[in-house]
Amino acid sequence: MTFYYGTHIRLKEVSFLLDRANSIAGNTENLTVYLDGDDYSQNNSIRADFHFPAFFWRKGDSIESVPYAIAALMNNPSVTHIIWLSKRLLDEEDIHIFWVYSHELRHFMQDQGAADIVKIKLFLNELHIQENYLGNGTQLEKPHELDAELFAKSTVKVAYGYKALSDYISLKCKQSNANSYFQRLEHLEKLLSIN
Ligand SMILES: [Zn+2]
Repeated sequence: MTFYYGTHIRLKEVSFLLDRANSIAGNTENLTVYLDGDDYSQNNSIRADFHFPAFFWRKGDSIESVPYAIAALMNNPSVTHIIWLSKRLLDEEDIHIFWVYSHELRHFMQDQGAADIVKIKLFLNELHIQENYLGNGTQLEKPHELDAELFAKSTVKVAYGYKALSDYISLKCKQSNANSYFQRLEHLEKLLSIN
């Protein structure tokens, strides 16, 4: 894994965190991680992906309306997969960075064929039929995203322990009114484990 970064001052702490997640994930040889020191959330000439906390990019995806330094990376033939982490994310608590990074890391694993989502796909299909699902839920109703969130939750649990995980979820529920989101995640996780 290669790191590129802007002017972020917590590089040491953050790279330690990411290494920890990588060691749970397995082979990250083809992965480039970009820690951004700039904030684009107010910049309309930069595309919407860069207003999110993080995203995963692979060769062939669009390079339009991308910040200059990242476009250069994307155009580099030896760079095939990038996880971009925003300045806003990197200013947050470690456990949150760890969750979000693990989620994006799972998309990398899915791309590498290191994560099998066939079971999750079948499970969601069947469940949505039972529930008369109308297609208006959160990302948890999409197989790749549910798989990434379950992976993030389990890596946080491995790295930080159950108590820190449940404190983190309680805090998130308070901060962003995400009660129903985490309840749904837990519900799907339970159903999947007995399937
Ligand atoms: Zn995702």
